[in-house]
Amino acid sequence: MESATVVMYPSPEMGHLVPMVELGKLIHTHHPSLSIVMIIALPPSKTAGPTTIGKYIDATAAATPFITFRHLPPVALPPELSSHFFVDLFFEIPQLYNPKLHDALVAISAESALKCIVLDFFTTAAFEVSKAIGLPTYYFFTSGASGLCNFLHLPTLRKTTPDDFHGLDVYLEVPGIPPMHTSDMPGNLFDKYFVSAAGDIAESSGIIVNGFAGLEERAVEALRDGKCIPDHPTPPVYVIGPLIAAGGGGDQAGHGEDECLRWLDSQPSKSVVFLCFGSRGVFKREQLKEIAIGLEKSGQRFLWVVRDPPPADENELSSGDFDLEGFVARTVGKGMVVKNWAPQAAILGHDSVGGFVSHCGWNSALEAVVSGVPMVAWPLYAEQTMNKVYLVKEIKVAVPVRMAADRFVTAEAVEEAVRELMEGDGGRTVRERVSEMSDRAKAAVEDGGSSHVDLYELTKSWGCHGRKGSENEIL
Ligand code: UDP
Repeated sequence: MESATVVMYPSPEMGHLVPMVELGKLIHTHHPSLSIVMIIALPPSKTAGPTTIGKYIDATAAATPFITFRHLPPVALPPELSSHFFVDLFFEIPQLYNPKLHDALVAISAESALKCIVLDFFTTAAFEVSKAIGLPTYYFFTSGASGLCNFLHLPTLRKTTPDDFHGLDVYLEVPGIPPMHTSDMPGNLFDKYFVSAAGDIAESSGIIVNGFAGLEERAVEALRDGKCIPDHPTPPVYVIGPLIAAGGGGDQAGHGEDECLRWLDSQPSKSVVFLCFGSRGVFKREQLKEIAIGLEKSGQRFLWVVRDPPPADENELSSGDFDLEGFVARTVGKGMVVKNWAPQAAILGHDSVGGFVSHCGWNSALEAVVSGVPMVAWPLYAEQTMNKVYLVKEIKVAVPVRMAADRFVTAEAVEEAVRELMEGDGGRTVRERVSEMSDRAKAAVEDGGSSHVDLYELTKSWGCHGRKGSENEIL
């Protein structure tokens, strides 16, 4: 049998790379004769934490020999690029790597039958290359089905909504999701790169979604009915998750990890609220103080992942260590503060954790759902504000935190939200719901479950045939 390869091209951000690697593992588990090549084009240090990504790649390469990481040779980045907004860079850098990608794909196809390439929307520039060589192109959408509804609908929304929509006090209607207030839509939604990526995805051979049908029923239905792109056929949508990494993919990057899991071992069941704001979440000093006061007043047990605040003044080189002003000393026994990074997925899976204050990153939300942990939704930036709406209003696994128009959250609001989550009626309701969703997540990935069936359909579209609802496969 000739060897066959699926090429994947993630954006080198932990929140995109880790689930793409999990997708590679899933595909290989079901079709062991398929090998996975993961293309890596590392960005300049401004756009990510390459040390963490580098460590993660090394550890994954050692543990999963069927995934080969192929680093594209570095390209010279034009000096003017350094002034570009960092989200634009996510799109622009892959464009510069296209010639190298072309060479890599030609080399891979000389060694093995190339089935397809799976892109991230940030690496959509590569579609030009895959089209030119006639390679079927799929996208892996690392947010859920609701996010995909919104994304695919962007070009349509663009035609009917003013550019300065942020100042409006209206709800935007998008098929498959609740009405979205303009203040919950990211300000750069109509960025030319996003709108054009949405157009590319609509032209692809298929879209793979990290979620499961039972979590976002209405959104999945709207996608399958082609409602989100009214003037164009929607490619096949494969909802194959939840794909999450044990340890959140961050095992290699952490500090004091064993210590916080050991501390959790000594806490009562479901008693601890966990606070963590993704791989990039950073708060100013004033906000950190409010969180500390609110947590202490709430009287709840807590585990809080804290990063130093950014320098107050641009000219300051470093903020130095943030002094939590006796907070840590006063709350010994009741709480624990971890600097920078903690093994989130393992923490959420720990029996002592009863609630999660989250920035609403999609990977974090899935990890909470899988572990059946209810959330306080505290979005910080980008699509997180939209995720908050799905999690609170549609999926109903989170209670919102009360925030000001500038997104500042007072100590009273922290206290109120944490108490509500851990002791209130709202918390009880979302706890029951997330527990049901956790059961649905398990059922989705079992033989014959919705995600299992979608995976079967996906790999069938690559010419790999297994029996639906079975581990058996014939390539
Ligand atoms: N994560 C972690 N420890 C931390 C912070 C983040 O393990 O201290 C992991 C988390 O479990 C998740 C990922 O990093 O898998 C963050 O992805 P998400 O989509 O939630 O947010 P992003 O970082 O992309 O904003």
